[in-house]
Amino acid sequence: MSSFVFGIDIGGTTVKCGLFSVDGTLNDKWEIKTRTENEGKHILPDVAETIYKKMEEKGIKKEQVAGVGVGVPGPVMNEREVTMAVNLHWGHLKLADQLEELLGGIPVKAGNDANVAALGEMWKGGGEGTRNLIMVTLGTGVGGGIIVDGKIVTGAHGAGGEIGHACVNPAEKIQCNCGNYGCLEQVSSATGIVRLAKDILAENTEPTVLDVASVSAKDVFDGYKAQDVVAKKIVEKFASYLGNALAVFAAVLDPEVIVVGGGVSKAGEPLIQAVEKVYKKDAFLSCKETPIVLAKLDNDAGIYGAAKLVVE
Ligand code: ZN
Repeated sequence: MSSFVFGIDIGGTTVKCGLFSVDGTLNDKWEIKTRTENEGKHILPDVAETIYKKMEEKGIKKEQVAGVGVGVPGPVMNEREVTMAVNLHWGHLKLADQLEELLGGIPVKAGNDANVAALGEMWKGGGEGTRNLIMVTLGTGVGGGIIVDGKIVTGAHGAGGEIGHACVNPAEKIQCNCGNYGCLEQVSSATGIVRLAKDILAENTEPTVLDVASVSAKDVFDGYKAQDVVAKKIVEKFASYLGNALAVFAAVLDPEVIVVGGGVSKAGEPLIQAVEKVYKKDAFLSCKETPIVLAKLDNDAGIYGAAKLVVE
């Protein structure tokens, strides 16, 4: 009987690995280095090797492994093929075919890392018990994942859930990394918040704890919690964009829950409350009470979600 699954989250510097029971219990987790040299051709053999080693260590036979799920920093089609993953130096890659061969036929499924993290939060995190959710990850950039009826929405180009590049400010004069202007990422990522802060601080005449030269997203939220008037202005600006964007997405998808994760979400409940205030104002009537919650799995969301890919 198949009792175990592996969840593998391949990042640009480390590969996070998890050994799960099929009920979602995490039995063991560890990391290996991501070797990106030579067009990243060592990565999948390294993954296969670490899985074999773990099976040997735990006395797990191949028949006991239901599958291996893999999260990748790039678009993934049909849960099998990577279109490209710049950070891993991969071009087009038939990931599932190659890894299944390396693993002697153990079934493999793959997904985009942000989407997979959303699936993890649905399974065992902030969205546990739901089957329809929107996750937004506020880090250096803004990632996202959409889950409908328990399945990741990948879309026609593997770009489903790229909500960081939804245009929220068409009047924006500065270009986003993606080439467009006015993306959500430009105003609600850690770097986006710093930009908002610098704009507001440049014109500010009121007393504030914030220093325009060194301000970070954390400083802004710390200031907000300490009732700094200028920090409040910055957080309200940030929340006006994010809360509105979430209301727009909710009108399209009507999720059961909206999960907010990533480094910026460490600001905690005050951040959620600021966003919720705008969300409730802008959301369609039926979606106004949709809960907005913090992610729970932190950096493990990726391994949970990858494992869930192969658990039916
Ligand atoms: Zn963009």
